[in-house]
Amino acid sequence: MLFSEIAKTFDRLESTTRRLEMTDILAEFIKTVNPAELREVVYLSVGRLHPDFCPLELGMADKLVLKAIVSVSGKKQSDVDEMWIKLGDPGQVAEQCISKKKQMTLFSEPLTFQTVIDVLSAIEVTTGKDSQDKKMKLLSRLLHESSAVEARYLCRIVTGRMRVGAGSMTLMDALAIAFATKEERPEIERAFNITCDLGLVAETLAAGGMEAVKKIKVSVGSPVKVMLAERLRTLPEIMDKFEGKCAFEYKYDGIRVQAHIKKGADGFVKLYSRRLEDLTSNFPDIAEALKNQLKGNEAIIEGECVAYDPATNTLKPFQNVTHRRKKHGMSQAVEEIPVRIFMFDLLYKDGTDYTLTSYSHRRLMLETSFNDNTEGPYDLVGYSEREIISTEEHAQEFFDKAIAAKCEGIMAKALTDSSIYRAGSRGFLWIKYKKDYTQALVDTFDLAVVGAFYGMGKRAGVYGALLMASYDPDTGRFGTTCKLGTGFDDAFLAALPGMLEAYKSNTKPSSLDAEMVPDVWFLPGLVLEVTAADISLSPIHTAAFGTIKEDSGLGLRFPRFTGKVRDDKTPEQCTTFEEIKEFYELQEERDVQEPVDAVEE
Ligand code: ATP
Repeated sequence: MLFSEIAKTFDRLESTTRRLEMTDILAEFIKTVNPAELREVVYLSVGRLHPDFCPLELGMADKLVLKAIVSVSGKKQSDVDEMWIKLGDPGQVAEQCISKKKQMTLFSEPLTFQTVIDVLSAIEVTTGKDSQDKKMKLLSRLLHESSAVEARYLCRIVTGRMRVGAGSMTLMDALAIAFATKEERPEIERAFNITCDLGLVAETLAAGGMEAVKKIKVSVGSPVKVMLAERLRTLPEIMDKFEGKCAFEYKYDGIRVQAHIKKGADGFVKLYSRRLEDLTSNFPDIAEALKNQLKGNEAIIEGECVAYDPATNTLKPFQNVTHRRKKHGMSQAVEEIPVRIFMFDLLYKDGTDYTLTSYSHRRLMLETSFNDNTEGPYDLVGYSEREIISTEEHAQEFFDKAIAAKCEGIMAKALTDSSIYRAGSRGFLWIKYKKDYTQALVDTFDLAVVGAFYGMGKRAGVYGALLMASYDPDTGRFGTTCKLGTGFDDAFLAALPGMLEAYKSNTKPSSLDAEMVPDVWFLPGLVLEVTAADISLSPIHTAAFGTIKEDSGLGLRFPRFTGKVRDDKTPEQCTTFEEIKEFYELQEERDVQEPVDAVEE
C-alpha cells in the first residue's frame, strides 16, 4: 500500500467532525487494506506504532522536526521558525514548505506504507550519542520522498500530534461495518477492552472473522481496561439499588494497579496503572511480594497500593504514596515509604479467564490464590476489608469504620450472578460512596488543564488561574467547564509552569471547544481533581453544550483544586460531559445562575 492512500484518508477524516461520516470513511478504507498491514494502520491512525500500553514513543521535539523541514525544503531556518510561531503545528509548516519544494522535484519515488513504518520504527529506537541528529536525518529521508499532505501527517505523527478526530469508538464502529454486523459490535468492543489492543483485534477480525475475535481471551502481559464504579448520594439509595443486600469494601485512597504475574524462566511481574502506564519500577517491593506469594503460575489481579505504617498498622494519606512515583532514588523511597497492596479482584489465573464470572466467585478465588507472609516486618500483600451488608445500620457502621481507617469511603459491590468484571465500563455493579458526598455535590471532578491566565497581585509572574475542561468520549472533544483559581498553594503555583510546559500550544487545541480565551493554551494532558459548590447552566462554558438548554453549557460554581494531581488518568479518562450532566440532574435545586470562578489574587 502507498502511504498516500492512508494520508488521503486522514485528510478526509480531518475535514469532518461528524462521527457517522468518519465511520463511513474509515470503513470504506479499512476494507481496502491488506489484513497483514491493518494492525499498523490502526496504531498509526492515533500516531503510534504499538498499542497504548507499550511505553515506546516517537516523541520528537518540534525544533528537531523544523530542522528536518529546513534541510528538505531549502528554506531559511528563520522563515520556518516564523511559520511555526504563526501556525503552531509542525505538520502545517511541513505541508506549506514541501508543497513549494514539490513544484521543483517532480520525479521522486512514491512513499510506501512499509517504508514509513520501517523508518518510524528506526526513529523510535534510536538512542544515545548523536541520536537527535540521526532522528532528524531519518525524518528528512521520509520528507524528501513525501507529498505535501504526507508531510503534514508525518510531522504530526513524530511530534505526538496525530489526532484526526476518529477515536477508538469510531474505529470499532468502522471495523463492525467492514467485517461484521452491527449486532456483533459489542463483541468487538469486549475484545478491545480485555486486550487494550485495537490493532490486534482489527488484524484478528480481518484475518479470521468474528469467530476468531470471540476466541480472544484475557492474557498475562496485556492489560485489561479497568472496571469503574457509578455513584449514588446516600447509603440507603445504594442499599435500595442492590435490593437490600450487597458487599461493602473499604475504598482505599491510593494508586490502583493491575498486576500481571508470571512465574518461571520467562516470568515477569508488570504493574499497570489505570491509564495503562507501567508502574512496576515504582513498586518493586509489591511486585516481588506478589510473585513470591502467588500460589500457582500466573495471574492478573487488581488492588490499591496505599502508603502504610507497619508500626501502628495504619494507612497513610494519598500524598505519601505519590512519592513512590518519582523517577530517581527509588530504593530510598521504598525504604522510607512502606506500601501495602489491598487486592480487590482477580481477572485471570492459570489458564482461566474469570472476567465473565460473578464477583463472589472472583473474590473467593482471589482469597485462595496467595500465601501469607509471616516472616518480613509486615505482609505487603493483603485483601481489601470487606463485609456482606443487609441493613442500613450495618452500612453506616461499615462506612464509619472505613473513614476511621483513613479510607475515602466505601465501594458497594453487587452479589448477583450477573456481577461480572465489566472491563472498560462504568456501571452500577460497583457503586462508590465517599466522605465528600456529604457536601452538595456527589463527587469530585477530574478535569484537564487547557489554558492558563497570568496572575495578578501576589500571583504576578506565575499562572493565577487555569481553564479546565471535561471530555465527551462520543465525539472525542473537550469542552470547558470552569476557570480554576482556588486551592493552589505557593509550591504548586511555582511548579505549574514546569508541569505544563510540554503541553503548551500556540493555538487553541483542535479537539477543544472554548469561548473563553486564556493567555496560554495547552493541549489536554495534565488532569487535576476539582470540587465545586454546584453546577449551573453557563453561556460561556462549552461542556455538555446544548444538552440541558439550547445555547448553554454546564459550568462549575466555586471550583476548588483538591490538591490531587490525577497523573493516573489520561485527559480522555477525565470526567465526561455525560457525568457532569448527571451531577447537574442530581442536584435538588437547579438555580439558573452564572458559574462563579473564584480566583484568589
Ligand atoms: P475516584 O477518583 O473516585 O477514585 P475513579 O474514576 O478513579 O474514581 P472509580 O471506578 O469511579 O474510579 O472509583 C473506584 C476507584 O477506587 C478505583 O479506580 C480504585 O482506584 C479505587 N478503589 C479503592 N478501593 C477499592 C476497592 N475496594 N474496590 C474497587 N476500587 C477501589
